[in-house]
Amino acid sequence: MQLAIIGHHGVINDAPEKDGPISTGWRPIRGSLEAMARLHHAGWRIIVASNRPELADGTLQPDSLVRQHASLRRYVADSGGAIEAFSYCPHAPDSECNCHLPGTGLLQDIATRLHISLDGVPVIGDSPTYIQAAMAIGARPILVKTGKGFATVSQPDLDPAVPVFNDLYSAVDSLLKQDLFTADRQTC
Ligand SMILES: [Zn+2]
Repeated sequence: MQLAIIGHHGVINDAPEKDGPISTGWRPIRGSLEAMARLHHAGWRIIVASNRPELADGTLQPDSLVRQHASLRRYVADSGGAIEAFSYCPHAPDSECNCHLPGTGLLQDIATRLHISLDGVPVIGDSPTYIQAAMAIGARPILVKTGKGFATVSQPDLDPAVPVFNDLYSAVDSLLKQDLFTADRQTC
């Protein structure tokens, strides 16, 4: 079974939700729910990973975060997908924690909890923080041009080896095609 680590805001939906349930005004980026459904049907596990500094500055309460995650799980489930877990850094950007992306603590924690290596595991994000963390830990960074991605793609220090896709849907489409290709080769 394969694993994909997917960014939250800017990858699945447009903007951070305001404090409260995501049932009102929440908008998925076009194709993102379908992309997660396709991964799920192909047997992939999905972890959603993000920084949530709103918890540190008090603009988001922990119980609201729980409700947001439950709502997102429901949206994804209604589309035929499944989010296995949410992994997030609850600290302020200037805290010295290791889990605030681009720190690698968040990804390391996923590897520890699932008892797997993240070598080559796709980390799909919209900002340099995801790219840097994925590279530092030996995972496979993938940039999408949604959210902050359109600005990220034009940054001069972006490694040209990092694959860039228009959105989560096209990134997943490519992953699944490669998956199929690898499976074909293994059975030949
Ligand atoms: Zn942290």
